[in-house]
This record gives sequence, structure tokens and C-alpha cells, in this order.
Amino acid sequence: MLRPLFLSTLLMGLSACAPTPVSFLCLEEDPLCGLEDALQELPPALSVDIEHVAFYQVTEKMLLQDGSDVSDDGVSVAQGRDAVLRVFLSPTDTYEERDLTVRAYIYQGDDLVDAVIVTQNFKKEGSLSDLDSSFNLAIRGSAIGPDLGIAIEVLEATLDADFPGIQGRNSWPEDSAFGVETVVTGPLKILIVPIEYNADNSGRLPNTEDDEMERFRQAFYGQFPADEVQIRVVEPQGTDIGIRNGWSALLNEVTGMRAAVGAEDDEYVYGLFSPGEDPTGGTAGLCWLGYGPSDPGTKVCIGLSGSPSTAVHEVGHAHGREHSPGCGAGSPDPQYPESDGSLGVRAFDTTGNRMFEAATTYDFMSYCGPTWTGAHTWERLVERVGTVNSIYGAHMESAEYLTFVQDEHGTTTSLGRQWISGEPAGLAVRLELLDQEGAVLDTVVARRVPMDHADGAMFRIIPPIADQDIADIRVKAWR
Ligand SMILES: [Zn+2]
Repeated sequence: MLRPLFLSTLLMGLSACAPTPVSFLCLEEDPLCGLEDALQELPPALSVDIEHVAFYQVTEKMLLQDGSDVSDDGVSVAQGRDAVLRVFLSPTDTYEERDLTVRAYIYQGDDLVDAVIVTQNFKKEGSLSDLDSSFNLAIRGSAIGPDLGIAIEVLEATLDADFPGIQGRNSWPEDSAFGVETVVTGPLKILIVPIEYNADNSGRLPNTEDDEMERFRQAFYGQFPADEVQIRVVEPQGTDIGIRNGWSALLNEVTGMRAAVGAEDDEYVYGLFSPGEDPTGGTAGLCWLGYGPSDPGTKVCIGLSGSPSTAVHEVGHAHGREHSPGCGAGSPDPQYPESDGSLGVRAFDTTGNRMFEAATTYDFMSYCGPTWTGAHTWERLVERVGTVNSIYGAHMESAEYLTFVQDEHGTTTSLGRQWISGEPAGLAVRLELLDQEGAVLDTVVARRVPMDHADGAMFRIIPPIADQDIADIRVKAWR
């Protein structure tokens, strides 16, 4: 996920919030490579306190509330998934309205892996229900790793800012970073089967244009705890069975297509169709209630063309979700905590920068609207998506590997620690780790990736000892 380009910049004197000088992994896809600009020295903001910090992938997770750390509010955080931080300030008596800069520093362990900055006017204390009243910072999913830490700093917007007041709680936490537990979920894989609707002899096809599939992808990504939503569209499949034969007849027909369309066991098949004048009976989709994570035959749904929200609801059923109560939804989940099917906790849409209030928005498994993901559904889906991916091996545990480069002269350079998803590539070799005097500290298995046109190579290990004790490496044996 992270593809470090270099690991050279030491950010000195970042101010009190950064624990120590940190090494910065400059990410390939990231504009942050112009860091001097982004992280220029600015004076601490005076006469303001950081009041709340809220974190959203979907369900609101409070990290700091009324100035106090929230150790765990039970909301799961999915690794690799985009997020938004909302930072709320409160002014003291001496505060004068002006622009302020808020920075969020995202850590993996001791490494700073991302920094996000927003500058805007600040006048008065904000409210959690007003999206425009907070400093909102989008965090890329690739920065949400297994050892997540977050730190916030509030600065004056310009170097020469001169305002009265004293320094309050302008950085949080006071030292180091605030640790947030994360879990691996992995991708959500949807296989769209366009149904050539022959029941009325029309041969009508659903809309599977790129723009439309992107709408489906965003609807799933916005509401599911997946680090990625993969949508694959196969060739249209013709059938004479339509909803005039009953919705279940068409679901059965599409269920029988899994093998023919080459569905992987962890792919959710979605038969998309356009029934024309055939009566839908008010139904927009049908699916199996996927009670078990390991049964591919139940990962099949059908639904009307042009309705991503139907697809999200149906694929929710395929994940074992029953209806959430409300507005006539049949057989509601007795464990759903809100009797009216509302969200339970405020939620956010990272794909559209929208916020949803807990009491006036309804879970997408209910029949009420408008809908988004309820807190209960988020947690159940975190569990199910993660379980499906661990069964089928689609998720890769990421780990921190110490990386060495040895050139054609045998000179060794450490590139420090790099995050790698899954096993690092390369041949396995036995590598001796040497100290300053050349004594062998330990022997480990490393992955060796050669240079293409020179006799140098890169080695990756999970170090059994402290990085700084390793002065050199030596290939002991090829395995
Ligand atoms: Zn339903």
C-alpha cells in the first residue's frame, strides 16, 4: 500500500506536538513531497483550545471529547480505508477572529506517514452537528495502518501573525501521538452480471456504463467497511426467466450462473437487469440471506438497473444482515439497537463529504429513508468483510520490514522501515546481521530483490533485534 520513494527528510523542530524528529515516508501518489511548503514553521495559535477530535470512516468515533481523551468508544477502524478527521476548537476570552491552520499528523508506530493541513477562518466554538463548524481533514486510506497514531496541532496561519493571548491546548495529545486500534477488513468484490432480459422478448440490457459502475462503486465504498471496492462487469447473460416468473425464479437463474461467469468464491454476484413493463410488485432487489461467510452460493443477488442503493441493501443481506426495523421492513434483526431503524450514531460519507445525523437517518438495511450505515451494521460488516477475506486470503496482513540495500561493491545502506502488504517479493536468503565490529548478532531469513543491470540488491527483514544495533549484513546462504 505504501510505496516510499525516499526516507531522508528529518523534520526538525516541528514544535511540541511531534515527539521527536521523525523520518518521513514520502508517498509516491502524494503531493506531500513538497513538504517544506506544507510543514513550514508557523507560530502556535494563541487563545484557542482543541475541544473535540472526531474520526470518521463512516460511524463517528470520538478521539477527544470536551478536552478529554476517549480511550475506546467501540467504533472499529478499518485499515486502508479513507477517513476524515474533524477538529473542534474553542476560543478563550482574548481570542480575536482570524484564519487558523490545523494540521493532523498520521503515524505508523514512530514514523510520520502523512500530514494533512487546513487553513480557514475561526470565529466561535463549533458543533458536532454542523460540518462547516469544524476543521475537516481528509486522511488517505493508505495512511491508516496497523499501528495508527494521530496528533493535532493548531497554528497561526502566517509566520508574522501577532495576536494577543496565551498558548492554550493548541496541540493534542500533549506528547507523542494518540494511538487508535485498527482492524483488517480487506476488499469488497462485486461481480456485475448484466442480464439480457428476454422474458419480454426485448433483449434489454441494464446500464453498465463506466459512470454508472462508478456510482455503484462509490455507494459501496461509502457505506461498507472495505479498504477497496472492486467492481468487475462480465459479458451479458441472456435468460428467458424474468420477474414475470417471480423474483425468486430470476434469483435462482442467476445463482446458477456463478460458475458460467467465472465468479470467484469471495465475489458477490449481482445480476443487474431492466424489466421494462414487467411488474416489479414494488420490489427492487432480491438476495440470499448469507448466514455464513464461507458459502459462495449465497453470495448472489439481483436488482434493478440504475439503483446503487438497492445493490448496497441487497449485498448487505448477502453479508448476513437481516432488515433493520422500521417502515414495514419484514423480519427485522432483533439485535438492532434502535427500534426505529435509525443510525444510532452520527455518520459520514467520505465519498461525498456529507454528514448524517443519528436520529434522522436510517440504516440501509431498514425500509425508512434517507439511509446510510448504522453503527450496528458497521460493526457487523467489519466482522463479516474481514472474515470473508481471511477465509479466501484476499486480505494481506501488512508488516513493517527493515530494508537494506547492498551495492555492487558490497556497501550496505539502511533504508529504514517500510510497510509492505503481504509477503515481500524476492528470493529467500539467509542473512547474517552484523554489529559495528562485524560480529554476527543474528541470522534471519530475508527477501532479496536484485537490481536489473547491476550486481546490487535490496533485502527485507523483520528485525529480531533493535534496528540501530545492525551495522551491516552478509548473505550467508541461498535457500
Ligand atoms: Zn431487504
